[in-house]
Amino acid sequence: MNGELAPGVDLRGVNLIREWLDAEAGQGGDRDKQMMLRVLKITEEAGEVAEALHGALGGNPRKGHSHTWEDVEKELVDVAVTTLVALSTLNPEGWEKALGGRLQHLVGRIPGAGTEG
Ligand SMILES: [Mg+2]
Repeated sequence: MNGELAPGVDLRGVNLIREWLDAEAGQGGDRDKQMMLRVLKITEEAGEVAEALHGALGGNPRKGHSHTWEDVEKELVDVAVTTLVALSTLNPEGWEKALGGRLQHLVGRIPGAGTEG
């Protein structure tokens, strides 16, 4: 894999973020705790997507249209990147293969898009 998911998307950035977080946690960092914190971070980012979506739709009359669709997009990317960082924490050497394999599996469940039948 050349590190690109799509043109302009270099997945090696996921490793850089994970390595930075690992360095900040220090040598004595509790791996289980780090894993839990990184999974919890996905939920935090998902909440930010919900907040941005609420704001883009003007769902709160008191706040009005407090967010844009660009804000929603940014937060969705945060969820994706945070998820990949957690995945790479679980499987530093094989996360790209796991991602590709699972994506292929999910695509394969789409009627007519699978490799079988
Ligand atoms: Mg965010």
